[in-house]
Parts: sequence; structure tokens; C-alpha cells
Amino acid sequence: MATASLNPSSTAISHPRLTDSHRRVIHDLRVSITDRCNYKCVYCRTGEVGAQYPELSIEEYLRLIKLFVGLGITKVRLTGGEPLLRRGLVELVQELARMRTLWDEPLDLALTTNGHLLDGLAAPLKAAGLHRVTVSMDAVDAPTFERITRIPGSFETVLAGVRAARAVGLTPLKINCVLLRGFNDDQIEGFAQFARQEDVVVRFIEFMPLEEGRLWSPEIIVPLKEIVERINRVLPLVDLPAREASETARRYTFEDGVGEIGIIAPVSQAFCGACSRLRLTSDGKIRTCLFSQVEHDLYGRLRAGADNAELRAYILQTVQGKEARHHIGEPGFLKPSRSMVHIGG
Ligand code: SAM
Repeated sequence: MATASLNPSSTAISHPRLTDSHRRVIHDLRVSITDRCNYKCVYCRTGEVGAQYPELSIEEYLRLIKLFVGLGITKVRLTGGEPLLRRGLVELVQELARMRTLWDEPLDLALTTNGHLLDGLAAPLKAAGLHRVTVSMDAVDAPTFERITRIPGSFETVLAGVRAARAVGLTPLKINCVLLRGFNDDQIEGFAQFARQEDVVVRFIEFMPLEEGRLWSPEIIVPLKEIVERINRVLPLVDLPAREASETARRYTFEDGVGEIGIIAPVSQAFCGACSRLRLTSDGKIRTCLFSQVEHDLYGRLRAGADNAELRAYILQTVQGKEARHHIGEPGFLKPSRSMVHIGG
């Protein structure tokens, strides 16, 4: 770990931040709590492969997350697979909401979901202490949406989920849209209107080579520049400043200040230099990068009887090996052994 520094919002207690060998402060943990999914989005799953990895018990996730929080993690995002499928989710959120960071503040607690079960779960999740949700939506018209998810009726179901989440205050509510040329790039302008009408933050994400099948190519990506140009033609965009160095999205609003658009461009404008993330897979492996070629078996050590001090030392050692950057598009690039749905997006 690097030298001690004060959390700006803390009063007196000085704790060393969790820092990797490239001097990046690591404060963001993404935890996959299942690799099962009820959607078969064409760019993610082939539809032939189901869940591949075991799930830990809720108590085991809590024990592992607590170790990370004790080392300086301040933000936890639950994901999957589809996290709303996971039994015990509400209880897990309840326990996480009670955890305090090293700086004696509540954790920043978020969840990423396809939204299919959100209409019924938004209120219990909010009551359990969840702060925000990000809902994945790849189209704003029902036929395109359902062509992508391959689930009839999914558009209306997800829209109801989005509205329920907003109504109970799981806000700011973000919508993530993965753009693929020839699949949904005709939705860009519609999403700009959607952000304004539904009072949500729409974030376009460049497609990364993390699919189960073989769809990715540089040509399928819709780059940031093109998205901005197209929205500007119908609704002029105004730049918003970054709120923190590790922010992944370039943010924009509109001339009247209503609505927000973000563009996350991990391929055309990689932000690895400011990466603050670690991932824990549903079977308890640490991944230091989406594109890691190695996984670190934290849960295996827990099962073998390692005590908390040993597990903490293992996390610290693992963080030191966090990759400087990804190598998408470069000669010799290797896809990781797990696809996005099995890593936890
Ligand atoms: N099931 C949840 C959901 O749909 O949000 C959480 C898991 S999903 C894997 C998380 C996010 O990863 C979704 O927004 C999805 O669109 C995105 N995603 C999946 N494959 C991707 C890829 N190859 N490149 C970029 N984003 C991807």
C-alpha cells in the first residue's frame, strides 16, 4: 500500500488508501452474486450456455466484501449474471447498508440489473438501503429491444421497472446502452429524448470483446465522437465536468439543462490510467481487470481455512498485480477465459 492520506470528507482518522503498483487508488468493488441470467442479449450470450460457476452463500459474500471494505473499498456494486435472480439479495443489501468504510461512512451501494424483476423489487431494495440502480436497456423501441434481449414483452417490463425504481428514489437512475453498429445504432437520438422524458441518465457504452460468441470487431463499435455528432444534430449537447478522476463516462447535458447523457468509451478512449476497480466473481475469484488472463482464488483460500489476516494479505498482494491497461485491438490480444456475464459487468 502507498503512504497514508486523508479521505477528504473524513474528520480525523487517517488510513492508508488501497493503492496498486501503478499508484491508482482502488476504491470500487464489483461483486457478481450469480452468473445466471434471464435474458439472452445477442451481443452477450449465445443462448446455449447457462450458468457456469458456483455461487457463494450470502454470508460468504458478506465476509469477503467486509475484508475489501476493511482495506479501503468505499463503493460496492452488485451485479451478475442477473443479480435480481439471486435469492437473499434483499438481505445482502440490508447487511451491506450497515457496513461502514474505513472513514466511518456508509458504503456507496449500487446495483446493475436488466430490470426485468425491478418493478417488484425496487421498493424492498430501497427499504433495505440500496442507493442507486443502473438498468441495462439497449433500445427505446419495443421491437428492437426484444430482438436484442430475445424475450417477448421485455421492453414494457423493463420500462415498468425503471419507473418503479425512479419512483422509490433509487436515483440518479442510470440506463446503460451498449451500442452495436447494425443492431441498435439507430436508437441514439431516441435515447437522447428518452433521457429527458424519463429523467434518467443514459450512458452509451462501447462494445468490448467479452461476448460468449464471436461478434466483436473494431467496425461494430460506435465511437464516442460519432454519438456526440449525431445527438448534436438533433439536440445540441453541453459538456459537463468530470466529478472525480476515476469517472469512466464523458458527461453531457442539453442546452436547457434537462437530461444527461454519458459516453463510456473503454475501447476508443480507454480510461485504464484512472481505473479504481476490482471485481469479485460469483465463485469468489478476484479479477483485477475485465481482461485479466489470471484469476485469484480468494474463496478457495477462505475454504481452506485462511484467517482474515491471511485473506487481507492475499488481497493486497493481488492488487499489486493489477494490470496497467487492457490491450483491446492490439496484435496478440487475448479474450479472457470468462465472458462478461460470467465475470460480472
Ligand atoms: N444482468 C445485469 C444487466 O443486464 O445489467 C448485469 C450484468 S450485465 C453483464 C452488465 C452490463 O454489461 C450490461 O449493461 C450489459 O449490457 C453490459 N455488457 C455485456 N456484454 C458487454 C460487452 N461485450 N461490452 C460492453 N458491455 C457489455
